[in-house]
Amino acid sequence: MRDLGAWARVQAERLREGLAPDAAGHPAYVLAQAAKLAEEVGELQAEVLGQAGYQRRSKGVDFTAETMSDELADVVICVAMLAGSYGVDLGAAVAAKIEKLEARWSGG
Ligand SMILES: [Mg+2]
Repeated sequence: MRDLGAWARVQAERLREGLAPDAAGHPAYVLAQAAKLAEEVGELQAEVLGQAGYQRRSKGVDFTAETMSDELADVVICVAMLAGSYGVDLGAAVAAKIEKLEARWSGG
């Protein structure tokens, strides 16, 4: 598997290079990243609604395993980019969180 964190940091820099200077600095850029994450979560919500049959067919959008996969990936990528902007090692953070959750379930 590709190193998501390293790729996300490179991708964030590529995107930052296309922005005006006042939009590329901190905190403007992280606010934009957070807004983009919200946008992608909205797209995932629309996908879930579509998969569950709650989207109008007249929209003409197909909801498939591939479109679900794409929307889930968009959210994870946005989270990884935001994590990179804060210097968070997302893999380590998720591993630590899983340990806490497992301890909770095992009575630890
Ligand atoms: Mg999306």
